[in-house]
Amino acid sequence: KKVADRYLKREVLGEGTYGVVYKAIDTKTGQTVAIKKIRLGKQKEGVNFTALREIKLLKELKSPHIIELIDAFPHKGNLHLVFEFMETDLETVIRNTNIFLSPADIKSYMQMTLKGLAFCHKKWVLHRDMKPNNLLIGSHGQLKLADFGLARIFGSPDRRFTHQVFARWYRAPELLFGAKQYGAGVDVWAAGCIFAELLNRRPFLQGSSDIDQLGKIFAAFGTATPSQWPDLAYLPDYVEYQYVAAPPLRSLFPSASDDALDLLSKMFTYDPKARITAQQALEHRYFSSAPLPTEPNKLPRPA
Ligand code: ADP
Repeated sequence: KKVADRYLKREVLGEGTYGVVYKAIDTKTGQTVAIKKIRLGKQKEGVNFTALREIKLLKELKSPHIIELIDAFPHKGNLHLVFEFMETDLETVIRNTNIFLSPADIKSYMQMTLKGLAFCHKKWVLHRDMKPNNLLIGSHGQLKLADFGLARIFGSPDRRFTHQVFARWYRAPELLFGAKQYGAGVDVWAAGCIFAELLNRRPFLQGSSDIDQLGKIFAAFGTATPSQWPDLAYLPDYVEYQYVAAPPLRSLFPSASDDALDLLSKMFTYDPKARITAQQALEHRYFSSAPLPTEPNKLPRPA
């Protein structure tokens, strides 16, 4: 049976943050798609209209490095979001120990990630939930960011489902200190964590609670102080931490080039106002110096 007279349901792909995701065929185009069924159960009707209006804006967000939102419609009390189908994701690639990632491959993944981010940030859309399994990889190796803008529309997904605790590892310090106003810097911090994970092949800052997450961040980069980050003391959940000094960044990333380390340190700047932007990161010499980023279709693929 067709959904919305257009989509032929296939198998379930998985249970995500907002609900079940299944594979389908778009009979209008013949294209394989992924449909996200979002439970709207407890929400008031007004919220649905707001959500639909915002979803409409996301449909306009088209870039080679953003998963296209093909269609959105309510059906049987659920909101259905139709996306282009992607083969795999960056988490699967990082975890696959049979895949060797060269410095040029890592550069390619980072460049595509930052291109997607820079595009959305230019349009004032934040992702807010960047993590390797939200970076989907197509059959030609192209990386695209998934779930752009959804966190804002449907609420921050953290704590709603148990598997979501991992999102904490990518959370910027301003969020951990309870900032209510934050900007594109939260996505850049998360992209820095993903960069670190590509280099070391394991999640970088694996906090077991929000407090522990800050502890892990401070252990890596030294305690944040108001002299580096003037707004720090005014954040809602700010508490003074005992000072710890940062180890040399080099010691945390033995395999990284000097250019990679320099970019990393700029993405991990504490003060969000001083943190490098996605666009500036793309212009960093890391991307123009040798080795040049691998072409997407030449990136290693799972067997
Ligand atoms: P999460 O909330 O954990 O990030 P998602 O809701 O994004 O999970 O996705 C749930 C499952 O559906 C995952 O296994 C993911 O691989 C799959 N999936 C999501 N979007 C797509 C897509 N566009 N193409 C193929 N598979 C997808």
